[in-house]
Amino acid sequence: MKVKAAQVVFVNGLGLEGWMDRFFKASGSTAPMIVASTGVKPIEGAEDGHDTHTGHGGEHAEHRLDSHAWQNVANVKLYVANIRDALIQADPGGKQTYDGNAARYLSTLDSLDAEVRTAIAKIPVDRRRIITTHDALGYFAAAYGIQVIAPQGVSTEAEASAQDVARIIRQIRAEKIPAVFIENISDDRLMQRIAKETGARIGDKIYSDALSEPDGPAGTYVDMIRNNVRAFSAALMG
Ligand SMILES: [Zn+2]
Repeated sequence: MKVKAAQVVFVNGLGLEGWMDRFFKASGSTAPMIVASTGVKPIEGAEDGHDTHTGHGGEHAEHRLDSHAWQNVANVKLYVANIRDALIQADPGGKQTYDGNAARYLSTLDSLDAEVRTAIAKIPVDRRRIITTHDALGYFAAAYGIQVIAPQGVSTEAEASAQDVARIIRQIRAEKIPAVFIENISDDRLMQRIAKETGARIGDKIYSDALSEPDGPAGTYVDMIRNNVRAFSAALMG
């Protein structure tokens, strides 16, 4: 197993890799396991959030933390510092390289954070509201001031039914939500129905858990954040 040969093992933490502890012990590895999110101020996940992705959530659904801390760029600066320090610990000879690379990337992240704030500031305050079935944007919402609303009574686990769609339509109307980013409706006719009956815009694809293909719209972390902010802006600007 690759884990056995690794000198340092990084995990996100915040409940994302509940399976990892046992797996790591079973591998016989003596490498330090570094929790990259150390120092992040955790926020709670929604009660009916998504334990649908393998490895997400856990047995203690009622106290589950939101593991998507990387959706706040400032949190990723903590990840970078933790990773840098762990690499230096494991390989002191490489300190200069790790310090230099980390400093460069931290400065990129500072620019990215400022870019996000500038983009969101251009969206009228009363339009900074989206609805999404994937409860992955809690940290983004808290950091950048977009309200992310979960559809009530709609399962995030299965393909949304026509009944779910009717419920989502009622909610969008009642709460005057200007844009929808819904990932578990693959039937385009249902999406079109939501748009038609509510006037809400259907947002472009956002990336929350994984990157796109390397040459896709979200091939790196920085591009993922940029892609998402572009999608929010496009859907929310008047
Ligand atoms: Zn997720």
